[in-house]
Amino acid sequence: MIILREIYIIISMIVVLSGDISSHDKEMVCIYLRDRGFSIREQNFGEDAIIGASGKGVVDIRELGLLPGVERVAATSKPYELASRETKSEDTIVTVGPVKIGGSRISVIAGPCAVESKEQIMETAARVRESGAVMLRGGAYKPRTSPYAFQGLGMQGLEYMKAAGEANNMPIVTEVVSPELAVQMRDLTDMFQIGARNMQNFELLKKVGSLGKPVLLKRGPSATMEEWLLSAEYLLASGTHDVVLCERGIRTFETYTRNTLDISAIPVVKGLSHLPVLVDPSHAVGIRAKVSPAALAAIAAGADGLTVEVHPRPDDALSDGPQSLYPEQFEKLMRDIEALAPVVGKELLRIPRPSGAGKGGALPRAAGSGSSAPEAGGDLPVAYCGESGAYAEQALNRVFGEDAPRLQTDSFKGIFDAVLGGSASAGVVPVENSLTGSVHENYDLFLRYPDIALVGELKLRIVHCLIAHERADIDSIRIVRSHPQGFAQCREFLDKHPEWALEPCTTTATAVASIAREGAIRVAAIAAEAAAKAHGLKVLREGIETNPLNYTRFAIISRRGGDTAPVPPGLGSGPPNKASLVFSVPDEPGSLFACLKIMSERGINLSKLESRPIQGKPWEYLFYADVSIPLTGELFDGVMDELKGSTVDFYHLGSYRAML
Ligand code: PEP
Ligand code: MN
Repeated sequence: MIILREIYIIISMIVVLSGDISSHDKEMVCIYLRDRGFSIREQNFGEDAIIGASGKGVVDIRELGLLPGVERVAATSKPYELASRETKSEDTIVTVGPVKIGGSRISVIAGPCAVESKEQIMETAARVRESGAVMLRGGAYKPRTSPYAFQGLGMQGLEYMKAAGEANNMPIVTEVVSPELAVQMRDLTDMFQIGARNMQNFELLKKVGSLGKPVLLKRGPSATMEEWLLSAEYLLASGTHDVVLCERGIRTFETYTRNTLDISAIPVVKGLSHLPVLVDPSHAVGIRAKVSPAALAAIAAGADGLTVEVHPRPDDALSDGPQSLYPEQFEKLMRDIEALAPVVGKELLRIPRPSGAGKGGALPRAAGSGSSAPEAGGDLPVAYCGESGAYAEQALNRVFGEDAPRLQTDSFKGIFDAVLGGSASAGVVPVENSLTGSVHENYDLFLRYPDIALVGELKLRIVHCLIAHERADIDSIRIVRSHPQGFAQCREFLDKHPEWALEPCTTTATAVASIAREGAIRVAAIAAEAAAKAHGLKVLREGIETNPLNYTRFAIISRRGGDTAPVPPGLGSGPPNKASLVFSVPDEPGSLFACLKIMSERGINLSKLESRPIQGKPWEYLFYADVSIPLTGELFDGVMDELKGSTVDFYHLGSYRAML
């Protein structure tokens, strides 16, 4: 885009119209654009009615924005306008049934290359679901290079796949190869896949786009990123809003691997477009043993998820056996992704098993890891302490989703009160930081609120930024505000600026909010990038924490029902495997040893044991323990009873699904 004062020479733009624009005003906008050499189209973009304009016209954007009925003008220098990040700066989150793709989550799709039989797709679906895949993939129509190779089971295969998806509570994605089939497949699939070979089949793109369903658009083996985005533009311009891009390797001179996974395309395309980007490491690499490393590299590079080929018996597969993972390899990959996700500031999305027996149980709205973490109940909010953009809010978004209603409190106690009093369905409280240790205030609150249980956990990587007003620069700063922990965690960075005065605040996000209110260019805050975004401020320096291995563990809390924690629809796979306990022991030789012996004999592993003084009782101590749950149900309750008998005070804060 060339800027001549306020006059722009533009290739494309969208003019967002106000909902109540009159037909006369709309006509005037069209005439204004046509007179300046643009060809125009009326269409919808998400919720908005827009006029898309393209050409090499010259236009005064400010004047256009002032025409009656015009709400906003977004111009782009790119030939694709609806797909461009210049047009829409925030990430698009694509919804496929209960699954969301994009934003801060990693969504993994898995399944065989092709549906081969009812048994094969049922078995594969159950296996990948067990490991945490959120959608099922599989081809019913296979575009094969050789006309003699297996072409897929067609409609019959799609019926099998639909049944497998339903039985396992997973939406399905399958490839569509012709416009006619798109119409026939419409009600059988949750998401269409446009295969690499069809990326520039424009009639297919137009037809599939017009059906309005979510689409997974593979990158063609020889397509440039711009061509790929122009194909996405065809889909968006034809009517669908839900397009997910998929990098699956491109053709290069290298022949060792099936294709060359273009890792650089991930950050580049995510910069150019607001659409989510998945990676298919299977077709990119083509060699089973190399699929998982490539998948992890894709996640590290910022991919929003993966689509991976998995087969229960790859040697018998009718297509792409050599690149299909064994279910056990897929399980290992998912565990590795779970460990990697917090490093890139993301969370592995899992959808829970249906609650109750049979299929089709209630689905949660949210991603998370604690198996017994609650759903945001109805319209009831989830409580957290602080302002928008607080680290706790990031944790909340990961567990309950960005759309979950939320309640801000000004103290941790306020969270417990809101959950106990029923004005919040759940709460998010920090309990431990990997550098600075336990947040004792919240452990104390658990003891003061016995009707509140710990039902899930989330580990969030803490990346601190120096945040200031748009007009500020590093030399204008004289004062820095943050929570005292923020200062402690950025000691080395702050030591380089001894001239800065430090002002402590209640939370890192309140520090940011205060600068936004005052508009001072002399003051900066140490907080999350999300807080800068939420309050319209600028990030001056990113990643200023002394130690990058800085994680905070948040507890998800909920009200106990009867004498056990309620088990609302779970957010994770598998039963609880971790419990948090707080206890004190009699003041006599061997009393702590007696407790540890009970655990040791029952095969219970201690992942945390910390002692801290009991307030008001000098030289008496409380122990905080996190333990594994190798036994379930009554057996575990029995051990808890035994421990109760060997302790003075004993609190079982809750049992939940551990994060790695
Ligand atoms: C597939 O995903 O089944 C497939 C054929 O992939 P691609 O179109 O990327 O080759
Ligand atoms: Mn395949």
